[in-house]
Amino acid sequence: MLLLDFLAPKSCAFCGVLSTGDEHSLCVNCFDDLPWRVPAASPAPGIFNCSLSMMDYAFPVDVAIKALKFKRQLYYAPALAEVLCAARQSLPADIDSILPVPLHWRRKTVRGFNQASELAVPVARALGIRILRGVKRCKAPPSQSGLGATERRKNLRRAFSTREQVASKHVLIIDDVVTTGATLTELGKVLLRNGADKVSALTVASAR
Ligand SMILES: [Zn+2]
Repeated sequence: MLLLDFLAPKSCAFCGVLSTGDEHSLCVNCFDDLPWRVPAASPAPGIFNCSLSMMDYAFPVDVAIKALKFKRQLYYAPALAEVLCAARQSLPADIDSILPVPLHWRRKTVRGFNQASELAVPVARALGIRILRGVKRCKAPPSQSGLGATERRKNLRRAFSTREQVASKHVLIIDDVVTTGATLTELGKVLLRNGADKVSALTVASAR
């Protein structure tokens, strides 16, 4: 952290209004105006113990997520992490590990960061849960956008590998957007195959 960041008052990531001295990255007005799903959607059922998507993939969240991913506007990450933290009361109490959806190293090199990790780190800190770091994306998939559910599933086969001890754990997978749910499902299956007790999923927004 830069000293300047530390000294500067925090401002809302969405409207720029200076916060009133608390630790929030979103002002109350912007927080209330976000396209919340009430109750939070369950976009990828099946293998998941609990699956929550907090918002519709709509303005201004779609803009914020694209700015974070493709324009490196990292100040959106803590604001979107606050959105995830709003799920706190709805999440199963026995979750003991958090896994940001891994990005292939090549894509991470190009982007400079993994947006799912940027979201997961503040959530893990707020909930006091450790992050799993030994799960890798071993296959660089072609861009998933524009592909149907079947092609996505085919693309994702053997996409992840794990060196983590996940036996008996309840892992919460975190990602920015869920579209078909194929990535979350594939990752969840890998964890269950490696002995995880349960998997749950939490995403900022759902595009379905
Ligand atoms: Zn605001």
